[in-house]
Amino acid sequence: MAVQRETLEADVLIVGAGPAGLACALHLSNLIRKHNESGGKPELSTENIYVLEKGREIGAHQLSGAVMDPRGLAELIPDYAKTAPLDTPVKDDAAYFFTAKSAWKFPITPPPLRNHGNYIVSLSKLTKWLGGLVEKTGVNLFTGFAGASLIFEGEGIAGVISDDKGLDKNGKPKSNYTPGYELRAKVTVLAEGPRGSLTKQLVSTCKLDGLNPQVYSIGVKELWEVPEEQIAPGFVAHTMGWPVPASMYGGGWLYGMQGNRVSVGLVIGLEYADPLFDPHEAFQKYKTHPFIRRVLEGGKLLRYGAKTIPAGGWYSMPRPYVSGGLIIGDSASFLDAQKLKGIHMAIKSGMMAAETILEALVKGDASAKTLAGFQERVNASWAKQQLWSVRNFHQGFRNGLVPGLIHAAFQQISGGRGLVDPMRTHAGHEAYAKLDGRPTPAKRFQGDGKLTFDRLTDVYHSGTRHDDDEPCHLLVADTSICAGRCAEEYGNPCQYFCPAAVYEMAEERGERKLKINAANCVHCKTCDVADPYQIITWVPPEGGGGPNYEGM
Ligand SMILES: Cc1cc2nc3c(=O)[nH]c(=O)nc-3n(C[C@H](O)[C@H](O)[C@H](O)COP(=O)(O)OP(=O)(O)OC[C@H]3O[C@@H](n4cnc5c(N)ncnc54)[C@H](O)[C@@H]3O)c2cc1C
Repeated sequence: MAVQRETLEADVLIVGAGPAGLACALHLSNLIRKHNESGGKPELSTENIYVLEKGREIGAHQLSGAVMDPRGLAELIPDYAKTAPLDTPVKDDAAYFFTAKSAWKFPITPPPLRNHGNYIVSLSKLTKWLGGLVEKTGVNLFTGFAGASLIFEGEGIAGVISDDKGLDKNGKPKSNYTPGYELRAKVTVLAEGPRGSLTKQLVSTCKLDGLNPQVYSIGVKELWEVPEEQIAPGFVAHTMGWPVPASMYGGGWLYGMQGNRVSVGLVIGLEYADPLFDPHEAFQKYKTHPFIRRVLEGGKLLRYGAKTIPAGGWYSMPRPYVSGGLIIGDSASFLDAQKLKGIHMAIKSGMMAAETILEALVKGDASAKTLAGFQERVNASWAKQQLWSVRNFHQGFRNGLVPGLIHAAFQQISGGRGLVDPMRTHAGHEAYAKLDGRPTPAKRFQGDGKLTFDRLTDVYHSGTRHDDDEPCHLLVADTSICAGRCAEEYGNPCQYFCPAAVYEMAEERGERKLKINAANCVHCKTCDVADPYQIITWVPPEGGGGPNYEGM
């Protein structure tokens, strides 16, 4: 039976309330106000801007480092420093090379890792504050609502269908069933962050891929409270080396925050060869390094989380406009992988989208031709300059750390060109080497329960909550591959790359079967990226489900 959906019409629909989506909403509201005040026609209303966020509140799904370059925020809100929840300015920064027991400090911090003038922030708190400002302008912000599918029309899109609520695990309506809305808009903006589920649909349907496929890293992070004086607020350390093998891309961080809190995390490029590599375990080991242990010892784990990061940069940027639609922020690859910084560019991309949208609303024309103005604005912006200067950075590391550093040095002195330009890359899941009979580990990492933790303990600290009786949001196209080909060829890497213990090969009536613990999912999207056969599709669960990254 066809589902009867209520239709709502808006001028602009923004999917995702991260820094990109909120900056777009706020800047557009400001532009509309100025347009109306100057007697511009047609008169526009901020009430016709809708923002959808799948988290139960703004900030709930925001996980970042985060050292923020304030450039984007300063353009959006010139007097931001008066009210923004900036945790602490960076006061001291350092870079280290780790071996298993030692930390070698670089005599001078390499320029890309210098952070003076930047702020350590909780992105969750920052977006909550931004969300408050957006609401005050009259924009309709709907939290706990996910964009479930796109409405394709003509050569582009005309809105989204939001998530159905109140379905049981077999997809049957429960007593509280409410079908998703048909949300139609003149312009739909996809600001879903890394590996957006709607963005993926749009890029593949409209063939918007950039020169290179997008490549991702996974960042695994914990927030700690430690005894006084173990780290100064404003101290920023970035590390290379142990425990990340030299053949792989990755590194760690340690940031000192107010209130004796510490942000600690590890980033791993999702393009490694060993299908049994476990990023969560690598992060737990990272904390046992004497340099990190000294800071965390005697402290308490407050929060845990994980999330993918788009690392491909300029050459992986999809065409960010179609008729009726724009893609911004991480979804459109606005992230400088060399500096691991995307917040300021997400904001800038949102602002440029807002300027393009205002033009489209005034002209009454949201065709691809008008929305191509977004690409022109991007090309003329500092965001392009920054992305262009590191356009080959990530690709330089495809053969490991040492060649990567050599490429990076050449790129640094040649404005990003380096030895080969453009450097091509492959999707990360193509890098797995077959096991060829190598056994899978008999036991999984347990942790000591004080400094290091198993995945379930960490998931508990992510505040993740989903209704157990709802349809599984991790769609596996062919589970027979899991017990057969995948087990034999790769040893079921989903059991290792997932940082939330969602995937498990379990014995059921003498048969090994894939068991999906969907309620654990922290929405990092690693499975959608790293599955070797690309048969896992991450779709949003019922809105409001997922982690609670308060303070992260
Ligand atoms: C571990 C880690 C460390 C990082 N460190 C730094 C750093 O130190 N400095 C820095 O500048 N950047 C850092 N970044 C990158 C930075 O966090 C991102 O570039 C930035 O958050 C991108 O903003 P965004 O708005 O595009 O996406 P996001 O911040 O990911 O926001 C997207 C929002 O959309 C929502 N959403 C997604 N899909 C849907 C849907 N279908 N329906 C409804 N809602 C949806 C999500 O719940 C989320 O709230 C880091 C990232 C990670 C993961």
